[in-house]
Amino acid sequence: MFSIKANKSPGPDGYEGGFYREAWDIVGDEVCEAVLEFFASGKMLKQINATMISIIPKVEKPVQEKEGYDKVIQSHSPLRPGYGGSVFLLPQSVLEMVDKQCREFLWGSKEKGRKIALVAWQDLCWPKKQGGLNMKNCRLWNIATVGKLIWQFMHSKEQLWVRWVHGIYMKDEADFWNHIPKQDCSWYWKQLHKIKMGMISWYSHDRYCLTSNGKYSVTRGYLALLGDRPKLADTDLIWSKILLPKHRAVVWLAVQQRLLTRTRLNRLGIECEDDMCVLCDAQKQEDAVHLFVDCDWAKELWAEAQDWMGIKVQLGSVQQTLQQIKQKRWSKFKREIVAAGYGAVIYHIWRARNGKIFKGQTVHRDFVMQQIKMTVRERINMFRDYKTARKCAWFLARICN
Ligand SMILES: [Zn+2]
Repeated sequence: MFSIKANKSPGPDGYEGGFYREAWDIVGDEVCEAVLEFFASGKMLKQINATMISIIPKVEKPVQEKEGYDKVIQSHSPLRPGYGGSVFLLPQSVLEMVDKQCREFLWGSKEKGRKIALVAWQDLCWPKKQGGLNMKNCRLWNIATVGKLIWQFMHSKEQLWVRWVHGIYMKDEADFWNHIPKQDCSWYWKQLHKIKMGMISWYSHDRYCLTSNGKYSVTRGYLALLGDRPKLADTDLIWSKILLPKHRAVVWLAVQQRLLTRTRLNRLGIECEDDMCVLCDAQKQEDAVHLFVDCDWAKELWAEAQDWMGIKVQLGSVQQTLQQIKQKRWSKFKREIVAAGYGAVIYHIWRARNGKIFKGQTVHRDFVMQQIKMTVRERINMFRDYKTARKCAWFLARICN
Protein backbone atom coordinates (compact mmCIF):
# COMPACT_ATOMS: atom_id res chain seq x y z
CA MET A 1 0.00 0.00 0.00
CA PHE A 2 2.76 2.43 0.95
CA SER A 3 4.83 1.73 -2.13
CA ILE A 4 2.01 2.53 -4.57
CA LYS A 5 2.39 5.93 -6.21
CA ALA A 6 -0.25 8.38 -4.95
CA ASN A 7 -1.83 9.01 -8.35
CA LYS A 8 -1.68 5.47 -9.77
CA SER A 9 -4.97 4.43 -11.36
CA PRO A 10 -7.43 3.32 -8.69
CA GLY A 11 -8.09 -0.34 -7.96
CA PRO A 12 -11.52 -1.98 -8.04
CA ASP A 13 -12.53 -0.09 -4.89
CA GLY A 14 -12.08 3.22 -6.72
CA TYR A 15 -9.52 4.63 -4.28
CA GLU A 16 -5.95 5.55 -5.13
CA GLY A 17 -2.92 4.65 -3.07
CA GLY A 18 -2.68 8.29 -1.99
CA PHE A 19 -6.10 8.11 -0.35
CA TYR A 20 -5.12 5.19 1.84
CA ARG A 21 -1.91 6.88 2.96
CA GLU A 22 -3.69 10.13 3.81
CA ALA A 23 -6.51 8.39 5.62
CA TRP A 24 -4.47 5.60 7.16
CA ASP A 25 -5.25 6.73 10.71
CA ILE A 26 -8.95 6.22 10.03
CA VAL A 27 -9.10 3.22 7.67
CA GLY A 28 -5.82 1.46 8.45
CA ASP A 29 -7.10 -0.99 11.03
CA GLU A 30 -9.97 -2.11 8.87
CA VAL A 31 -7.82 -2.53 5.76
CA CYS A 32 -5.35 -4.67 7.71
CA GLU A 33 -8.18 -6.73 9.11
CA ALA A 34 -9.67 -7.33 5.64
CA VAL A 35 -6.33 -8.38 4.19
CA LEU A 36 -5.50 -10.67 7.10
CA GLU A 37 -8.95 -12.18 6.90
CA PHE A 38 -8.37 -12.96 3.23
CA PHE A 39 -4.96 -14.51 3.88
CA ALA A 40 -6.39 -16.67 6.63
CA SER A 41 -9.63 -17.84 5.02
CA GLY A 42 -9.11 -17.36 1.29
CA LYS A 43 -12.47 -15.56 1.23
CA MET A 44 -12.82 -12.14 -0.24
CA LEU A 45 -15.24 -9.42 0.78
CA LYS A 46 -18.41 -9.80 -1.25
CA GLN A 47 -18.20 -6.15 -2.29
CA ILE A 48 -14.69 -6.50 -3.73
CA ASN A 49 -15.72 -9.60 -5.64
CA ALA A 50 -18.75 -7.84 -7.06
CA THR A 51 -16.78 -4.80 -8.22
CA MET A 52 -14.32 -6.95 -10.07
CA ILE A 53 -16.93 -8.86 -12.00
CA SER A 54 -18.84 -5.75 -12.95
CA ILE A 55 -15.78 -4.56 -14.85
CA ILE A 56 -16.76 -6.94 -17.63
CA PRO A 57 -19.25 -5.04 -19.78
CA LYS A 58 -22.87 -6.00 -19.27
CA VAL A 59 -24.28 -4.36 -22.39
CA GLU A 60 -23.85 -5.98 -25.74
CA LYS A 61 -21.74 -3.28 -27.36
CA PRO A 62 -20.22 -0.99 -24.75
CA VAL A 63 -17.92 0.54 -27.35
CA GLN A 64 -17.92 0.83 -31.08
CA GLU A 65 -17.28 -2.43 -32.82
CA LYS A 66 -14.42 -1.07 -34.84
CA GLU A 67 -12.24 -1.01 -31.76
CA GLY A 68 -12.14 -4.81 -31.98
CA TYR A 69 -13.72 -7.21 -29.53
CA ASP A 70 -10.38 -8.64 -28.48
CA LYS A 71 -9.13 -5.20 -27.37
CA VAL A 72 -12.33 -4.53 -25.43
CA ILE A 73 -12.10 -7.79 -23.53
CA GLN A 74 -8.44 -7.29 -22.72
CA SER A 75 -8.78 -3.72 -21.54
CA HIS A 76 -11.79 -4.50 -19.34
CA SER A 77 -10.46 -7.68 -17.83
CA PRO A 78 -10.24 -7.67 -14.04
CA LEU A 79 -6.91 -9.41 -14.43
CA ARG A 80 -5.16 -6.56 -16.15
CA PRO A 81 -2.40 -4.99 -14.10
CA GLY A 82 -3.64 -2.80 -11.29
CA TYR A 83 -6.70 -4.82 -10.38
CA GLY A 84 -7.05 -7.24 -7.53
CA GLY A 85 -6.08 -10.25 -9.61
CA SER A 86 -2.46 -9.23 -9.50
CA VAL A 87 -2.36 -9.58 -5.73
CA PHE A 88 -4.97 -12.14 -4.88
CA LEU A 89 -5.13 -15.68 -5.96
CA LEU A 90 -8.74 -15.60 -7.12
CA PRO A 91 -11.07 -18.54 -6.44
CA GLN A 92 -11.55 -20.99 -9.31
CA SER A 93 -15.26 -20.17 -9.54
CA VAL A 94 -14.53 -16.46 -10.06
CA LEU A 95 -11.97 -17.20 -12.77
CA GLU A 96 -14.35 -19.50 -14.60
CA MET A 97 -17.06 -16.87 -14.43
CA VAL A 98 -14.74 -14.24 -15.93
CA ASP A 99 -13.80 -16.61 -18.76
CA LYS A 100 -17.47 -17.31 -19.38
CA GLN A 101 -18.37 -13.62 -19.51
CA CYS A 102 -15.57 -12.96 -21.99
CA ARG A 103 -16.69 -15.88 -24.16
CA GLU A 104 -20.28 -14.73 -24.19
CA PHE A 105 -19.23 -11.20 -24.96
CA LEU A 106 -17.26 -12.46 -27.96
CA TRP A 107 -19.68 -15.00 -29.44
CA GLY A 108 -23.00 -14.07 -27.85
CA SER A 109 -24.86 -16.11 -25.27
CA LYS A 110 -27.54 -18.75 -25.67
CA GLU A 111 -30.29 -16.36 -24.63
CA LYS A 112 -29.38 -13.96 -27.40
CA GLY A 113 -29.38 -16.63 -30.08
CA ARG A 114 -25.77 -16.37 -31.22
CA LYS A 115 -24.08 -19.20 -29.47
CA ILE A 116 -21.75 -21.12 -31.75
CA ALA A 117 -18.22 -20.48 -30.56
CA LEU A 118 -16.33 -20.48 -33.84
CA VAL A 119 -13.02 -21.13 -32.10
CA ALA A 120 -12.50 -22.86 -28.75
CA TRP A 121 -11.65 -20.51 -25.87
CA GLN A 122 -8.32 -22.21 -25.12
CA ASP A 123 -7.27 -21.63 -28.75
CA LEU A 124 -8.15 -17.94 -28.48
CA CYS A 125 -5.77 -17.65 -25.54
CA TRP A 126 -2.68 -18.22 -27.68
CA PRO A 127 -0.79 -15.11 -28.74
CA LYS A 128 -1.64 -13.80 -32.19
CA LYS A 129 1.68 -15.03 -33.57
CA GLN A 130 0.61 -18.52 -32.64
CA GLY A 131 -2.79 -18.25 -34.25
CA GLY A 132 -4.84 -17.09 -31.24
CA LEU A 133 -6.46 -13.79 -30.28
CA ASN A 134 -4.21 -13.13 -27.30
CA MET A 135 -7.10 -13.52 -24.86
CA LYS A 136 -6.01 -14.20 -21.33
CA ASN A 137 -6.52 -17.58 -19.78
CA CYS A 138 -7.66 -16.13 -16.45
CA ARG A 139 -6.41 -18.96 -14.29
CA LEU A 140 -2.90 -18.94 -15.76
CA TRP A 141 -2.69 -15.15 -15.87
CA ASN A 142 -3.69 -14.99 -12.23
CA ILE A 143 -0.97 -17.51 -11.33
CA ALA A 144 1.61 -15.55 -13.34
CA THR A 145 0.71 -12.27 -11.63
CA VAL A 146 0.73 -13.81 -8.19
CA GLY A 147 4.12 -15.26 -9.15
CA LYS A 148 5.35 -11.70 -8.91
CA LEU A 149 4.64 -11.80 -5.17
CA ILE A 150 6.89 -14.82 -4.89
CA TRP A 151 9.57 -12.93 -6.76
CA GLN A 152 9.23 -9.94 -4.46
CA PHE A 153 9.28 -12.26 -1.51
CA MET A 154 12.75 -13.43 -2.45
CA HIS A 155 14.20 -10.17 -3.66
CA SER A 156 12.61 -7.37 -1.66
CA LYS A 157 13.46 -8.61 1.81
CA GLU A 158 13.44 -5.09 3.25
CA GLN A 159 9.75 -4.58 2.44
CA LEU A 160 7.45 -4.52 5.43
CA TRP A 161 5.05 -7.21 4.26
CA VAL A 162 7.91 -9.53 3.30
CA ARG A 163 9.45 -9.13 6.77
CA TRP A 164 6.06 -9.73 8.29
CA VAL A 165 5.44 -12.95 6.30
CA HIS A 166 8.95 -14.16 7.13
CA GLY A 167 8.25 -13.59 10.79
CA ILE A 168 4.87 -15.35 10.76
CA TYR A 169 5.35 -18.27 8.38
CA MET A 170 9.03 -18.87 7.84
CA LYS A 171 10.18 -18.25 11.40
CA ASP A 172 13.89 -19.13 11.35
CA GLU A 173 13.99 -20.79 7.96
CA ALA A 174 16.01 -18.87 5.39
CA ASP A 175 15.47 -21.04 2.35
CA PHE A 176 12.15 -20.11 0.75
CA TRP A 177 12.39 -22.69 -2.05
CA ASN A 178 12.72 -25.60 0.35
CA HIS A 179 10.24 -24.29 2.88
CA ILE A 180 7.23 -26.59 3.33
CA PRO A 181 4.14 -24.99 4.88
CA LYS A 182 2.89 -26.47 8.13
CA GLN A 183 -0.38 -28.40 8.18
CA ASP A 184 -2.18 -25.76 10.21
CA CYS A 185 -1.02 -22.66 8.32
CA SER A 186 -3.37 -20.51 6.25
CA TRP A 187 -5.04 -21.48 2.99
CA TYR A 188 -3.33 -18.67 1.14
CA TRP A 189 0.16 -19.61 2.25
CA LYS A 190 -0.41 -23.18 1.08
CA GLN A 191 -1.64 -21.93 -2.29
CA LEU A 192 1.44 -19.73 -2.69
CA HIS A 193 3.58 -22.75 -1.91
CA LYS A 194 1.87 -24.73 -4.68
CA ILE A 195 2.47 -21.94 -7.19
CA LYS A 196 6.06 -21.63 -6.07
CA MET A 197 6.65 -25.34 -6.74
CA GLY A 198 5.26 -24.89 -10.27
CA MET A 199 7.73 -22.09 -10.92
CA ILE A 200 10.89 -23.73 -9.63
CA SER A 201 12.20 -24.44 -13.12
CA TRP A 202 12.03 -20.71 -13.95
CA TYR A 203 14.74 -19.96 -11.43
CA SER A 204 18.39 -20.75 -11.23
CA HIS A 205 20.68 -19.39 -8.50
CA ASP A 206 17.88 -17.01 -7.42
CA ARG A 207 17.73 -15.54 -10.91
CA TYR A 208 14.61 -15.57 -13.05
CA CYS A 209 15.63 -17.30 -16.28
CA LEU A 210 12.83 -16.31 -18.64
CA THR A 211 14.05 -12.75 -19.21
CA SER A 212 17.53 -11.64 -20.20
CA ASN A 213 17.86 -9.16 -17.32
CA GLY A 214 16.87 -11.78 -14.72
CA LYS A 215 13.85 -9.78 -13.50
CA TYR A 216 10.40 -11.29 -13.15
CA SER A 217 8.00 -10.70 -16.04
CA VAL A 218 4.30 -11.53 -15.68
CA THR A 219 3.94 -11.93 -19.45
CA ARG A 220 6.89 -14.30 -19.75
CA GLY A 221 5.62 -16.29 -16.80
CA TYR A 222 2.17 -16.46 -18.36
CA LEU A 223 3.55 -17.62 -21.72
CA ALA A 224 5.61 -20.30 -19.97
CA LEU A 225 2.46 -21.55 -18.22
CA LEU A 226 0.58 -21.52 -21.53
CA GLY A 227 3.09 -23.91 -23.09
CA ASP A 228 4.48 -24.10 -26.57
CA ARG A 229 2.93 -23.95 -30.00
CA PRO A 230 4.67 -23.25 -33.32
CA LYS A 231 4.55 -19.69 -34.63
CA LEU A 232 2.63 -19.05 -37.83
CA ALA A 233 4.34 -17.17 -40.64
CA ASP A 234 1.55 -14.96 -41.94
CA THR A 235 -0.07 -13.60 -38.78
CA ASP A 236 1.61 -10.20 -39.05
CA LEU A 237 -0.22 -9.67 -42.35
CA ILE A 238 -3.57 -10.72 -40.86
CA TRP A 239 -3.18 -8.36 -37.90
CA SER A 240 -1.54 -5.52 -39.82
CA LYS A 241 -3.00 -2.15 -38.87
CA ILE A 242 -3.69 -1.41 -42.54
CA LEU A 243 -6.49 -4.00 -42.51
CA LEU A 244 -9.80 -2.83 -41.12
CA PRO A 245 -10.45 -4.59 -37.79
CA LYS A 246 -13.57 -6.32 -39.11
CA HIS A 247 -11.63 -7.50 -42.15
CA ARG A 248 -8.93 -8.92 -39.87
CA ALA A 249 -11.51 -10.93 -37.95
CA VAL A 250 -12.98 -12.50 -41.09
CA VAL A 251 -9.53 -13.26 -42.58
CA TRP A 252 -8.40 -14.78 -39.28
CA LEU A 253 -11.46 -17.05 -39.21
CA ALA A 254 -11.04 -17.89 -42.88
CA VAL A 255 -7.40 -18.92 -42.36
CA GLN A 256 -8.49 -21.36 -39.68
CA GLN A 257 -11.41 -22.47 -41.85
CA ARG A 258 -13.86 -21.55 -39.13
CA LEU A 259 -16.35 -19.49 -41.12
CA LEU A 260 -19.72 -21.20 -41.13
CA THR A 261 -20.03 -22.11 -44.79
CA ARG A 262 -23.00 -24.25 -45.76
CA THR A 263 -20.83 -27.36 -46.00
CA ARG A 264 -19.46 -26.71 -42.54
CA LEU A 265 -22.92 -26.12 -41.10
CA ASN A 266 -24.01 -29.47 -42.49
CA ARG A 267 -20.99 -31.12 -40.97
CA LEU A 268 -21.87 -29.57 -37.60
CA GLY A 269 -25.30 -31.15 -37.90
CA ILE A 270 -27.12 -27.91 -38.72
CA GLU A 271 -29.12 -28.80 -41.80
CA CYS A 272 -29.24 -26.35 -44.70
CA GLU A 273 -31.91 -27.07 -47.29
CA ASP A 274 -29.54 -26.00 -50.01
CA ASP A 275 -25.75 -26.18 -49.80
CA MET A 276 -24.85 -24.66 -53.16
CA CYS A 277 -22.81 -21.50 -53.65
CA VAL A 278 -25.10 -18.48 -54.02
CA LEU A 279 -22.56 -16.21 -55.71
CA CYS A 280 -22.09 -18.11 -59.00
CA ASP A 281 -24.13 -20.35 -61.28
CA ALA A 282 -21.75 -23.29 -61.14
CA GLN A 283 -23.96 -25.35 -58.83
CA LYS A 284 -21.01 -26.16 -56.62
CA GLN A 285 -21.16 -26.98 -52.91
CA GLU A 286 -20.31 -23.97 -50.83
CA ASP A 287 -17.18 -24.70 -48.85
CA ALA A 288 -14.16 -22.53 -48.07
CA VAL A 289 -12.20 -23.77 -51.09
CA HIS A 290 -14.98 -23.01 -53.51
CA LEU A 291 -15.96 -19.70 -51.96
CA PHE A 292 -12.47 -18.18 -51.72
CA VAL A 293 -10.58 -19.98 -54.50
CA ASP A 294 -12.69 -21.62 -57.21
CA CYS A 295 -15.82 -19.47 -57.34
CA ASP A 296 -15.97 -17.31 -60.49
CA TRP A 297 -17.39 -14.38 -58.55
CA ALA A 298 -14.43 -14.48 -56.13
CA LYS A 299 -11.89 -15.04 -58.90
CA GLU A 300 -13.18 -12.05 -60.85
CA LEU A 301 -13.13 -9.81 -57.80
CA TRP A 302 -9.52 -10.77 -57.00
CA ALA A 303 -8.54 -10.27 -60.65
CA GLU A 304 -9.99 -6.75 -60.59
CA ALA A 305 -8.27 -5.97 -57.30
CA GLN A 306 -4.96 -7.18 -58.77
CA ASP A 307 -5.44 -5.05 -61.88
CA TRP A 308 -6.04 -2.05 -59.71
CA MET A 309 -2.95 -2.67 -57.56
CA GLY A 310 -0.81 -3.75 -60.51
CA ILE A 311 0.30 -6.98 -58.88
CA LYS A 312 0.20 -10.69 -59.63
CA VAL A 313 -0.54 -13.10 -56.77
CA GLN A 314 -2.10 -16.44 -57.56
CA LEU A 315 -5.28 -17.17 -55.69
CA GLY A 316 -4.92 -20.17 -53.37
CA SER A 317 -6.46 -20.95 -50.00
CA VAL A 318 -6.53 -17.86 -47.77
CA GLN A 319 -3.43 -19.09 -45.96
CA GLN A 320 -1.56 -19.87 -49.20
CA THR A 321 -2.42 -16.52 -50.72
CA LEU A 322 -1.20 -14.67 -47.64
CA GLN A 323 2.01 -16.69 -47.69
CA GLN A 324 2.60 -15.71 -51.30
CA ILE A 325 2.12 -12.03 -50.44
CA LYS A 326 4.49 -12.48 -47.51
CA GLN A 327 7.19 -13.95 -49.76
CA LYS A 328 7.09 -11.14 -52.33
CA ARG A 329 10.17 -8.95 -52.36
CA TRP A 330 8.22 -5.78 -51.80
CA SER A 331 8.67 -3.24 -49.04
CA LYS A 332 6.89 -4.14 -45.81
CA PHE A 333 4.37 -1.34 -46.33
CA LYS A 334 3.51 -2.57 -49.82
CA ARG A 335 3.05 -6.14 -48.57
CA GLU A 336 0.70 -4.84 -45.89
CA ILE A 337 -1.30 -2.82 -48.39
CA VAL A 338 -1.67 -5.79 -50.75
CA ALA A 339 -2.72 -7.93 -47.74
CA ALA A 340 -5.25 -5.24 -46.85
CA GLY A 341 -6.60 -5.37 -50.42
CA TYR A 342 -6.79 -9.14 -50.25
CA GLY A 343 -8.38 -9.00 -46.78
CA ALA A 344 -11.02 -6.62 -48.12
CA VAL A 345 -11.71 -9.03 -50.99
CA ILE A 346 -12.18 -11.96 -48.57
CA TYR A 347 -14.41 -9.83 -46.32
CA HIS A 348 -16.59 -8.70 -49.21
CA ILE A 349 -16.94 -12.22 -50.64
CA TRP A 350 -18.20 -13.33 -47.24
CA ARG A 351 -20.44 -10.30 -46.93
CA ALA A 352 -21.92 -10.69 -50.42
CA ARG A 353 -22.64 -14.32 -49.64
CA ASN A 354 -24.34 -13.42 -46.34
CA GLY A 355 -26.36 -10.65 -47.96
CA LYS A 356 -27.64 -13.06 -50.59
CA ILE A 357 -28.48 -15.86 -48.15
CA PHE A 358 -29.97 -13.85 -45.29
CA LYS A 359 -31.47 -10.83 -47.06
CA GLY A 360 -31.82 -11.98 -50.64
CA GLN A 361 -29.67 -9.06 -51.80
CA THR A 362 -27.45 -9.23 -54.85
CA VAL A 363 -24.48 -6.91 -54.81
CA HIS A 364 -22.72 -5.81 -57.97
CA ARG A 365 -19.00 -6.43 -58.24
CA ASP A 366 -18.30 -2.87 -59.42
CA PHE A 367 -19.87 -1.54 -56.25
CA VAL A 368 -17.82 -3.94 -54.10
CA MET A 369 -14.64 -2.96 -55.92
CA GLN A 370 -15.36 0.73 -55.24
CA GLN A 371 -15.73 -0.03 -51.56
CA ILE A 372 -12.50 -1.99 -51.46
CA LYS A 373 -10.60 0.87 -53.12
CA MET A 374 -12.09 3.40 -50.75
CA THR A 375 -11.25 1.36 -47.65
CA VAL A 376 -7.66 0.64 -48.66
CA ARG A 377 -7.03 4.29 -49.58
CA GLU A 378 -8.45 5.47 -46.27
CA ARG A 379 -6.28 3.06 -44.32
CA ILE A 380 -3.17 4.08 -46.29
CA ASN A 381 -3.83 7.72 -45.53
CA MET A 382 -4.30 6.94 -41.86
CA PHE A 383 -1.03 5.09 -41.46
CA ARG A 384 1.45 6.26 -44.03
CA ASP A 385 4.31 8.42 -42.97
CA TYR A 386 7.03 10.04 -45.02
CA LYS A 387 9.54 7.23 -44.60
CA THR A 388 7.30 4.27 -45.38
CA ALA A 389 5.65 6.13 -48.24
CA ARG A 390 9.00 6.89 -49.87
CA LYS A 391 9.84 3.20 -50.10
CA CYS A 392 6.89 2.46 -52.38
CA ALA A 393 6.02 5.87 -53.80
CA TRP A 394 5.24 4.57 -57.27
CA PHE A 395 2.89 1.91 -55.92
CA LEU A 396 1.11 4.43 -53.67
CA ALA A 397 0.70 6.89 -56.54
CA ARG A 398 -1.00 4.15 -58.55
CA ILE A 399 -3.37 3.13 -55.76
CA CYS A 400 -4.27 6.52 -54.35
CA ASN A 401 -5.03 8.33 -57.60
ZN1 LIG B 1 -19.53 -19.91 -56.42
